[in-house]
Amino acid sequence: MVKDLLIGSPPDWNKKLIEDTFIPFEGIQIQQLPLTDKENQDSLMWMFSETGVYSVKTGYQAIQCWKNNRDQGPSSEEIMKTVWKKVWGLQTIPRHKVLIWKIINRALPVRSELINRGIRCSLLCPRCDSTIETINHLFLNCEHTRREWFGSQLGINFQNENLTDFIDWLISFILNNDKSTIITMAALLYSVWHARNQLVFKNKDIHGEVVIQRAKNSILSYKNVQQADLDHLNNIDSTRSMHRAQVPTKVKWVRPEKDVIKVNSDVNLSYPDSWGIGVIARNDEGLVMASGTWMRLGFHCAGTAEAWGLYQAVHFAHECGFNKVQFESDNERLIKLLQGSGGELPNYLGARQQLFFFSY
Ligand SMILES: [Zn+2]
Repeated sequence: MVKDLLIGSPPDWNKKLIEDTFIPFEGIQIQQLPLTDKENQDSLMWMFSETGVYSVKTGYQAIQCWKNNRDQGPSSEEIMKTVWKKVWGLQTIPRHKVLIWKIINRALPVRSELINRGIRCSLLCPRCDSTIETINHLFLNCEHTRREWFGSQLGINFQNENLTDFIDWLISFILNNDKSTIITMAALLYSVWHARNQLVFKNKDIHGEVVIQRAKNSILSYKNVQQADLDHLNNIDSTRSMHRAQVPTKVKWVRPEKDVIKVNSDVNLSYPDSWGIGVIARNDEGLVMASGTWMRLGFHCAGTAEAWGLYQAVHFAHECGFNKVQFESDNERLIKLLQGSGGELPNYLGARQQLFFFSY
C-alpha cells in the first residue's frame, strides 16, 4: 500500500525504503508524485477513468493507448536500418559482412534451408553429425562452434546463456558492441562457415584452434592490404593533382562525396542467354562496403540485362541499408531512359553517369 512508503507527519516519501524496494527508475517516478497533508485511506483506482472505476470502454482505451506507446518505439525496420548501417560501415573483409547479411536474411545454404528448397542432401550437421544443420545449430548449438566461440578473443560461452535464436543474438550483438568487437565476431563467424564448407566440399577437417587463428589472421592481413591500397590511392590522387593534363580520359573509379556510397554495377554475357552481374559498393575512402554477383537467364537483349543489372544494384543498396547512394553505370542508353530525356548529361571521365540520392 502507498501508506507503507510514507514516513513522518506531514507524510513524506520514505526514500530509503523506496530505494531498497524499487529499481532506480521506478523509485524516482514514485518520489516525483505530489503528496497531500490530508490523511486518506488507500484504495485501488483504475487510472484510465476519471472516477477511478474500471469499465470495458476505458479498458479498451487503455489497451489502445499501450499499443500506440509500443508503436512509438523503434520499429523493427528502424532497428534493422541501424544494424545494416553499422555492418556495412565496418572496415573489414566484405565477405564477412555479406555472411552476416546472409545469416540475418536466412539466405545461407545450411542443410535445413536446402531441404526446404527441395534440394536432396544429408540433413545432419557436417561438423558433429548429430543433429539437423540449421543456422541456430551451426553457429549457436554445435559443440565445435561453441568451443570456438569460447576459445576466441571474445570468450563467449553459449553454454551458460539461455539462447534459442542465433539471429536475435547476432542482431543484439551488433547493436550493443563497438565496431572492432563486431569485426572480431564477424571474422570468427566467417571462419566457422569456411571450416564447415571445407568439410562439405573438400572433405577437410579444420581443427578448432585453426578456425580461431584463421579468424585472427584474416583481420590482420585485411588491415595490411587496406593500408597498402590506401597508400596507392593517395599516390594516384597526388599524381593526378600534379599532372592533371596527363590524366587518362578512360573510365576510372572516382571517390564519391563524403558519406556517400558509390555503387558500380556491370553486366556481361557469361554463357549464351545467361547474364552475370557484379555489384560493388565503396565509400568515400575507396573501401569496399559490400559486393555481390548474380546470374540470370532469359534476357535476349543487352539493354534489358543492363536494366535488370541496375535494378539489382538499387535493390542491393536498399537491402544493405545505405541511405546516400550514387549509382554509376556506363550504359548511356539506360541512363537516358531513366532520366526520361535525351538532354545533356554529365560526361564524367568518358562515362555517362547517373547520380541520384535516395533516402527511405
Ligand atoms: Zn554440429
